[in-house]
Amino acid sequence: MTEAIFRNWNNSVLSTPRVVAIPGDLQELIEVVRDTANYPSPLRVGGSFHSLNACFVSEGTQILLRHFDQIQVDTDEMTVKVGAAVKMFQVRDALKPHGMQTGLKHGHCRTRPNN
Ligand SMILES: Cc1cc2nc3c(=O)[nH]c(=O)nc-3n(C[C@H](O)[C@H](O)[C@H](O)COP(=O)(O)OP(=O)(O)OC[C@H]3O[C@@H](n4cnc5c(N)ncnc54)[C@H](O)[C@@H]3O)c2cc1C
Repeated sequence: MTEAIFRNWNNSVLSTPRVVAIPGDLQELIEVVRDTANYPSPLRVGGSFHSLNACFVSEGTQILLRHFDQIQVDTDEMTVKVGAAVKMFQVRDALKPHGMQTGLKHGHCRTRPNN
């Protein structure tokens, strides 16, 4: 836990949480949510802080999910499962070696022709 100030991309919004939580995995995240004494409300995730409004702001606990960066490609099912911190370009780079890419329509992840 540390104290910090988080600013959005153009410094128009500041978040000054009492506590910053950086859980290492899902179990630690669950503990953060449950432990209201050490992680006061409101709990708000901060992503890349590119929002134009105060949706990420917290006077309680700012959660950073930077450790949720796993990418699992399933070439049999032609699907990809990603953590909450994964960026779209990382998804692109993980899929490319398999001849896959994210779909242009909802639910599509297939670019290889069916054989
Ligand atoms: C210069 C600029 C150009 C933009 N262009 C586009 C565009 O072309 N198309 C478009 O759609 N948008 C665009 N946006 C808007 C931007 O994509 C959104 O504001 C987006 O929410 C920013 O994501 P972020 O990770 O920075 O979120 P943050 O600003 O950090 O947070 C936004 C919200 O999402 C929540 N949140 C963030 N990460 C997580 C997470 N991992 N899990 C759960 N909740 C989370 C936060 O609590 C908050 O409520 C642009 C913004 C800027 C500044």
